[in-house]
Amino acid sequence: MRAMWINGKYVFAEAEPYPALNPATEEVVGESTWGSEEHVETAVAAAKTAFSDWRRMPAAERAGLLHAVARRLRQHLEEIAVELTLETGRSIRKNRGYVEWSAQCFDYYAELARHYRGRLIPSPESSQLSVVLKVPLGVVGAIVPWNYPLLLLTWKLAPALAAGNTVVVKPATYTSWVSLGFAKLFEHLPPGVVNLITGSGRTVGERLVTHPDVRMIAFTGSTEVGQRIMRLAADDVKHVHLELGGKDPLIVCRDADLDAAAQASVWAGFLNAGQVCTSVERVYVDREVYSPFLDRVLEITCRLVVGPGSDPESEVTPMIRIEERDKVDAQVRQAESAGADVLLGGRVPPDKKKGYYYEPTVVTGLTEEMAVMREETFGPVLPVAPVSGFEEALARSNKSHYGLGATLFTTDARKVKQYMEEIEAGNVWVNDPLIDNVAGPFGGMKRSGLGRELGLEGLEDFLETKHIHWEIEGGRKPWWYPWT
Ligand code: NDP
Repeated sequence: MRAMWINGKYVFAEAEPYPALNPATEEVVGESTWGSEEHVETAVAAAKTAFSDWRRMPAAERAGLLHAVARRLRQHLEEIAVELTLETGRSIRKNRGYVEWSAQCFDYYAELARHYRGRLIPSPESSQLSVVLKVPLGVVGAIVPWNYPLLLLTWKLAPALAAGNTVVVKPATYTSWVSLGFAKLFEHLPPGVVNLITGSGRTVGERLVTHPDVRMIAFTGSTEVGQRIMRLAADDVKHVHLELGGKDPLIVCRDADLDAAAQASVWAGFLNAGQVCTSVERVYVDREVYSPFLDRVLEITCRLVVGPGSDPESEVTPMIRIEERDKVDAQVRQAESAGADVLLGGRVPPDKKKGYYYEPTVVTGLTEEMAVMREETFGPVLPVAPVSGFEEALARSNKSHYGLGATLFTTDARKVKQYMEEIEAGNVWVNDPLIDNVAGPFGGMKRSGLGRELGLEGLEDFLETKHIHWEIEGGRKPWWYPWT
């Protein structure tokens, strides 16, 4: 059974442990100790105590400790990748890449924070100094979802620590086991700087959000839970950083490279069984090229290899749980009964008796009112709809509560320029969807979130800003009392 990591020690709770399930086989692969609100108290107290030394540590020394986290990630790369596949079902091939990418993220923030402390600005008078000083916030609560337990944790942890904060992490229930295994990456840090606790979102997660000593909540997850966190954080006017759901559109213009657009749509729709916040969930295709595009999408989709993440050849891996698969299937059935055509998939693969697989699904004949075109699906479903042209596609892309990612396939620079400016999304891709860059800010507009992870913006979000006005020469000012 895996323990929590609190104040530099492995801690077991008294409650029944939580079993780790392999989504490909439905077998139990491990157990995690199951925390409670009491562990939030001890973890936050430890983080609060650790903060005073951690914030004062010279930036270069802190950077050295963060580079050591990156080194540990690389040392344990294979073991972590295998465990991620065991508990999330995701492809081992991709997981190896995500571990390396997480290491790069720690290296990046270790260095970035050494170069950034604020700025000097001109003062009203020459005898004065005006400083914009950036300081850490204090204890940060990081709440992470199950689809990318390491990567999305890293996007919070690396900038938060580099900025001088201490952190209490609550992973998703479904991925508690693999997340507790990350403790070995932090054993060299001073006690209390990083704490990993388990427990349900409703109890442990909410206590972390409402704890008076937690100054910021960095959350990735569903829009509904994000809204609740924002309400709960309002009482203490806490900083909240929210990376939420999406319904990402992809537009294919008549001038696009159709073959590339079709391949990219299939990949970006079905990667990690569609359980990616920036999965392509709506494809709008110019009517002039709709038919050849759709034929190509169907041709590629029917050849996809559905199988366990442990097989590097598997392209569409299982979903995380049967409940999540049922939600996806309900959306497909609802669309079908409202007149949509399920051209491929829309069912559990007949040869997969075990595991939470769902066939890659292509749907057409859609209306914007159908849930599959409005609500996040979070499964391997690709809805494809014809449009009269770029303007209609742009208008329909923006007609959504969400604004996380968006992709345009075109060879026309004028369309790209208009799209860059007018698409309502935080992450905009042209001819190459879903590509993140550790130096490029990632986040959503509208109900897809608040704040940005990665890049300089990702560091800024974990810092408080002070303006300091310093009269160096001192002395009385003519505008003070008594007026003369
Ligand atoms: P949830 O919102 O259900 O859960 C996310 C995390 O929040 C989990 O750790 C969960 O714990 C915790 N939580 C649940 N309820 C509360 C609460 N009341 N207070 C505090 N914490 C709580 O999302 P999922 O884990 O199901 O993840 C899928 C969602 O995440 C999708 O909607 C997806 O779009 C979004 N996502 C967004 C990304 C982005 O960057 N914008 C990236 C990846 C995913 P527990 O598991 O114990 O319930």
